[in-house]
Amino acid sequence: LQGLYTDDYYRIQQMNNQLINSQRALQKSNQKLKQVLAQVQEANTTIDALEHDSLTGLYRLPGFVRRVSQALDAAPGQAFDIIVLDVANFTLLCDVFGSKVADKLLQDLALFLTGLEHANQGLFARKAGDLFYIYMPAQFCFPELLQEKLPAFFDSYPLPIRMHGMVGVYSASTAEIPPLQMCDRARLALNTLPQEEVRVAHYDRSMQDDLLREHKLLDSVPDALKRHEFLLYLQPKVDMFTGETVGAEALVRWQHPELGFVPPNAFIPLLEREDVIYPVDQYIWEAACQFLARRRELGLPPLPVSVNMARRDIYREDLLDVLDRLIKKYDLDPRLLRLEVIERAYTEDSGRIVFNVLSQLRKRGFWIEMDDFGTGASTLSMAADIPIDVLKLDRSFLTQFPESPRHVEIVRFVVQLARALDLRLVAEGVETKEQADALCKLGCRYAQGYYYSRPLPAEDFLK
Ligand code: C2E
Ligand code: CA
Ligand code: CA
Repeated sequence: LQGLYTDDYYRIQQMNNQLINSQRALQKSNQKLKQVLAQVQEANTTIDALEHDSLTGLYRLPGFVRRVSQALDAAPGQAFDIIVLDVANFTLLCDVFGSKVADKLLQDLALFLTGLEHANQGLFARKAGDLFYIYMPAQFCFPELLQEKLPAFFDSYPLPIRMHGMVGVYSASTAEIPPLQMCDRARLALNTLPQEEVRVAHYDRSMQDDLLREHKLLDSVPDALKRHEFLLYLQPKVDMFTGETVGAEALVRWQHPELGFVPPNAFIPLLEREDVIYPVDQYIWEAACQFLARRRELGLPPLPVSVNMARRDIYREDLLDVLDRLIKKYDLDPRLLRLEVIERAYTEDSGRIVFNVLSQLRKRGFWIEMDDFGTGASTLSMAADIPIDVLKLDRSFLTQFPESPRHVEIVRFVVQLARALDLRLVAEGVETKEQADALCKLGCRYAQGYYYSRPLPAEDFLK
């Protein structure tokens, strides 16, 4: 008995030890488990942070694309829209008011979007800058909703720059291509829109080729600047009363190594839209200064050259410095470098920024010419108030001139207007002797056009 008792006692003690060991092991595992759980939680937070844009709280593009994939898998065959929204003039806003104001706009816009009807049925993302992507089942007609509601958002937004939303849409009912490519296609549709108003464009296949071409052009701009592929052409401005050449307009040409000779209309609007026009304009401004210096070296009389200034250039902080530096570097009279600014730059400048910048340029002695006059929406009171020296009548007014009596009356009116405001008037696009004669008869003194000369390479112009 005694033996048995000792034996059991020993066994119980052993079991007890085992129990204690197990308990310890369990405790350890528990701790480990807690650690792992904490790690998982941390990883989740990181994933969340990675998937979400910290500024607006919307998805970032990779997270968005993943969720769209899941949504498409969950509802096969359901028609849907991938929508991209871009804020027109956003870069301008950043340049002029700084990133704080711009960030606030993006946050407000995100709130606005996610507050729209049916927003909880879709997915929203922001990609670096001002691009918003939206996934939405087609039944909620979100593109139409945006078109209806966005203008009010931007119109009531308390900033003095006129902004609006532009919307591109890719629609489908099957997931034939990966979501990222759908986003690209919506973007492609967006890029076909003019910058002026809120509109919606839908993707179609032919857009792809245009995009490739545009990419090629945009990508090659920095090299083109280094390799001097941009060329300065000059077109004379003529005093029709005396027949003398009284100035010239500087016009850019691009001698592209692969695409050959690219006319300005094929790349200037693109460069403006993508906000890469400024370095190219500066390049031409400098070329114009070199031309003026060259004339002086050759002992030729001074001849003012007018350069084009893209709308966005005016909003650049260093614009005045850049021009001052050029004038100094080539030791020029600022009156010889004239600046052509399109009329729309004035009429779409609700914050009077353009007005202020151009006033300052004028104080420095530069002449300002209002380009394409008649295509914007100047009012008379505005024209009287604006800092300009020259009006350039847009060439569209001459297409039916002098055959159409209405057009004759319009030109007569503009001549009177210019006279009343004490501005020089230059008629653009004079192609025939009849036009020149009729303009002279109406009292328009200056002209530019193929009738006098096409734009010429700077060297030929010198000769
Ligand atoms: P723009 O400033 O209105 O320039 C006048 C345009 O009319 C030039 O076209 C010129 O070649 C063309 N032109 C001149 N006379 C006649 C004519 O009698 N008949 C017709 N049909 N056309 C005539 P171009 O050189 O193709 O330039 C087109 C536009 O590209 C310019 O219009 C201007 O807005 C822009 N551009 C050209 N060079 C520059 C530049 O260096 N910087 C910027 N920002 N824009 C430029
Ligand atoms: Ca011009
Ligand atoms: Ca013009």
